[in-house]
Order: sequence, then C-alpha cells, then structure tokens
Amino acid sequence: MNFCPRCGTTLVSRPEGGRHRPMCPAEGCGFTYYGDASIGTGAVVLRGDEVLLIERRTPDRSWWQIPGGFVEVDELIRDAIEREVMEETGVEARALDVVGFRHAAGVPDRPVANIYVVFRLLAEGGAPRPDGEESFDVQFVHRDRIAEWPGLSSMSLWAIETALTAPQDGGLGIEPHRDGLHRPGHTIFRLPPR
Ligand SMILES: [Zn+2]
Repeated sequence: MNFCPRCGTTLVSRPEGGRHRPMCPAEGCGFTYYGDASIGTGAVVLRGDEVLLIERRTPDRSWWQIPGGFVEVDELIRDAIEREVMEETGVEARALDVVGFRHAAGVPDRPVANIYVVFRLLAEGGAPRPDGEESFDVQFVHRDRIAEWPGLSSMSLWAIETALTAPQDGGLGIEPHRDGLHRPGHTIFRLPPR
C-alpha cells in the first residue's frame, strides 16, 4: 500500500508496535496500515442425523465440503453464515453456536491473514438445491456415511466431527445484547453459562 486510503497522502514507514508500518503523515489523519485480513465462515447444518454437504467444482476438479463463504466487511457474521447456506443450498438454517475456528497467517504466497469460523446450525426449512455457480450438488448425508464420503475436504470432516461430538449447546453461543457491553455492530460469543 502506497497511498492513504482515507486522504490519499503518500504513506511513510514509521515504527509502531515493534515494527515499521506504512503510516499517513497528514495532519490529523492517523491512518496506519496493519495489513489485510479476511473472515470466512462455514456451516455444519444438522437435520436430525443428517449433515448438509455441497459439491464444489473447478475446471479441473470437484470436491465436497460444508457450505460457507466470506463475511462481507459490513455484515454480521451470523447473518453471513445463514445467508451463505441459503444462497448455496436453498436451505433455511438457524445458527446455534460456534464449534471452532481456524486462524491462518504466514501462509506462503498469501499476505492476507484469515479466520474461518465454523458454526453449528439447525435446518428449519427449504429444499436442498445447488445454485450452479458455487454449488453443483447439495445433499443431506447421514452422519454414519460422512467419514467415508468420497472427496470430502479434511477441514469439513474435522468441522462435522467436532460439531457432532460436542455437547448440545456446548459451543460458543451469542451473548444476548446488553447496553453498556455491546456497541453498534458488535456480536460477542461466549462459553455456555453453567
Ligand atoms: Zn491519511
């Protein structure tokens, strides 16, 4: 990054927090570039003893995984995961809790850090159908068949097994809104109360 995204001034390199960073020297601006990060989210959607899987395709290969995608910069993560499930599968689902997340940083050739948050959801309606762009087949698969499902990504298998073996409501749930704790746009996840 060479120019300030707020005011257009040429950035300079200055020490801050133990390393040199691009900073804006303009009076009163204060922009500091800390690098790029993205947030992804994945959905283990349960319907009784079944789990929702989608088939993804590129020109040279296909594989299966849980639905999900990137969280928009101005979107609440819970809205994002329910939206992605609906877009990719046609299934209406409600987020219950967070079963885990993956943090990726320092990946060769990828300057962007990423957090991928896996939710557990309950299917509430809709009929499974692929969208033909990001999903090419959509199926509810019985939990006993998941481990042997051909072409299932290892991360999705991990997410499903974690979600299926965690106690009900054992993951990180959404803290109900409280004035004084939440600021606008905040979602806080917490361990279940005892
Ligand atoms: Zn600036």
